[in-house]
Amino acid sequence: MQKVLIVGAGFMGSGIAQVSAQAGYQVHLMDIHTEITDRALKDIRWSVEKLATKGLLKEPSEEVIARISLEKDLSTASEADWIIEAALEEEELKRRIFQELDRISRPKTPLATNTSSIPITRLAKNTNQPERVLGLHFFGPVPLMSLVEVVKGEKTSPEIFERGVTFVQSLGKTPVRVKRDIPGFVMNRIFSAALREAVDLVDQEIVSPEDVDVGMRLGYGWNAGPFEIADNAGLDTCALIGQSMKALGAGHLAPSSNLIERMVVEGRLGRKTGKGFYRYSSEGKRLPWTNK
Ligand code: NAD
Repeated sequence: MQKVLIVGAGFMGSGIAQVSAQAGYQVHLMDIHTEITDRALKDIRWSVEKLATKGLLKEPSEEVIARISLEKDLSTASEADWIIEAALEEEELKRRIFQELDRISRPKTPLATNTSSIPITRLAKNTNQPERVLGLHFFGPVPLMSLVEVVKGEKTSPEIFERGVTFVQSLGKTPVRVKRDIPGFVMNRIFSAALREAVDLVDQEIVSPEDVDVGMRLGYGWNAGPFEIADNAGLDTCALIGQSMKALGAGHLAPSSNLIERMVVEGRLGRKTGKGFYRYSSEGKRLPWTNK
């Protein structure tokens, strides 16, 4: 059985672990605290069991869960066939992780990052074999979203790029090839342009987040509006992506207003804290925002 190491067991890492286990891979899910990996496994169990009750799982949920082991460090990188980094969106942190992965893993193991906005080429420079580093940009929630951007860094070998495409297909997802490493890749550039405008209009009190989301659903056929998507992704992550875009010279894709940063300071991180552009009931139901 092929082994996949996933570094970071947050919103994205736990989702990637789940779909990898469902696809039959042996999964090592690593984070810095056992409470985080324990919570991730609890979330995965809940999600897999829900799929099972809907008849969407090929095998008993326990067999999927049994393929996931929780790790506190990167030592299992030495036996991994695939490594996917999905830690916090901070370049310095990812730089250290890539240096360690490069040291521990077998030389031919592909090293993928799920970064939203840090150039693949820059992360690859922290390794001795930049040709094996690529972007696998999943969309959240990973068990529900079938798109994955496969991103080619400046030095990614054509063989690793194509293996990335095949790996994504093996997870039952649909790959989109991004042939050049540009800020925000492709989908986030397009989404960020829409979110930038939406955030600026809301901050000027021209429109409410709810009305923008209704408008994009009814007027443009989006399945979810930009504020629903931002709340699901996490406003802290959105703020970090905006900062990266600015630092990479793509500031036209980041909001002019600092509304998201102000919300992050207030603990309004989106669905994960129960409050963002919307508030969320304890059952996860989305409700309009109110200051009360
Ligand atoms: P998150 O905050 O939910 O999870 C990040 C995890 O990284 C945390 O559990 C944290 O403990 C862990 N971490 C911190 N230091 C670590 C270390 N040294 N080793 C291992 N783990 C460590 O964030 P997320 O939303 O899951 O985002 C993770 C990555 O995926 C980021 O690069 C982000 O840009 C990218 N991404 C996010 C989304 C989204 O919708 N949130 C979509 C696509 C890509």
